[in-house]
Amino acid sequence: MHPISKAIRTQVDRTNEMEHSQPMFLTSSFCFDNAEEMRAAFADESDDNIYSRFSNPNVQEFVDRMCALEGTEAGFATASGMSAVFASFMTFLKQGDHLLSCRSIFGSTHTVITKYLPKYGISHSYVDAGDVGSWEAAIQPNTRMIYIETPTNPALEVIDLEAVAALAKKHQLLLCVDNCFATPIAQRPIEFGADLIIHSATKWIDGQGRVLGGVVLGNKKLVHEVYLFCRSTGPSLSPFNAWLLSKSLETLEVRMDRHASNALYLAEKLEGHQQLNWVKYPHLPSHPHYAIARMQMTNGGGIVCFELKGGIDSGRKFLDALTMLSLTANLGDTRSIASHPASTTHAKLTDAERMAVGISAGLIRISVGLENRDDILADILQALDKC
Ligand SMILES: *Cc1c(COP(=O)(O)O)cnc(C)c1O
Repeated sequence: MHPISKAIRTQVDRTNEMEHSQPMFLTSSFCFDNAEEMRAAFADESDDNIYSRFSNPNVQEFVDRMCALEGTEAGFATASGMSAVFASFMTFLKQGDHLLSCRSIFGSTHTVITKYLPKYGISHSYVDAGDVGSWEAAIQPNTRMIYIETPTNPALEVIDLEAVAALAKKHQLLLCVDNCFATPIAQRPIEFGADLIIHSATKWIDGQGRVLGGVVLGNKKLVHEVYLFCRSTGPSLSPFNAWLLSKSLETLEVRMDRHASNALYLAEKLEGHQQLNWVKYPHLPSHPHYAIARMQMTNGGGIVCFELKGGIDSGRKFLDALTMLSLTANLGDTRSIASHPASTTHAKLTDAERMAVGISAGLIRISVGLENRDDILADILQALDKC
């Protein structure tokens, strides 16, 4: 064989290598030994990989690990959390359908629901996260799905999963839960009766602020529908990101334990501070949905919110006075992060619109990292002194 051909055709024989770390399958497509194997793969008669938009070993490993953590049968991994959200809407909703969701939903999800779904004739109603008893009145004959997130980003409202699942079951609605804030370490929505679980793997799952990713999880039948949509439309996760995310899952539990214990410590220490109107954390007894949070979450997660007495200006001063915490749009990193929604992610909303989604001018969201808890507390306390 010509040296060039040889160089091109030489491959490490994977079957003889025993890598401890999973190798990366950075390939767009996969080869077949013969026409019959290829035919069988395309006919869905085998599990052979065909093309990385459909499936890839690294992506499958990440999905299998997520299924193990969430207790689900199947999953499909996507390029971001938002592509997981959008794929779920596009797969299960059609023109004329109605969606029930909450006002305090992640900002981009809210944009998809209010700006893009109406273009396809899909309407919605928003209900109050804290008052599941009132939701039944909002169900219409054409309602198909209940879409929630608990705890919510950034308001940290907690929704009673068991009550919502009972409602969904009674009306034969698909219940879709964005479990990004809790992670499967704290809460497994499938055990309460959810049909689909969605994650932004960008957050706690990567946990180190490196890559975007998402996943939709559920039973085989539902996930197959999501797979068929994604296989044709292409929001699939890259094998490189899957490789990183898969490795991240090996440390998810120890990281979340520390994120949550640091967050609880911070919330307890800040509660009652003279510069603050309130401090919110799901496992803080003063949280309005504390009883539900204790019942359905084994820890309170890694996010703490508080409201500065001084409003918008105080929020900006607070951010400027921080010396250790990062000012960045992400959350769920090893490094603690502070954000001020009223001057950033929600700056375009009016005061009234912000209040409707539980975001006041002085709201600060802290994504509590893995630094020593007293260093995190000290940076916040000294910044509070300056605003
Ligand atoms: C960040 C986030 C998303 C979107 O995830 P991306 O990976 O940024 O696309 C969805 N839901 C929640 C609750 C989030 O925090």
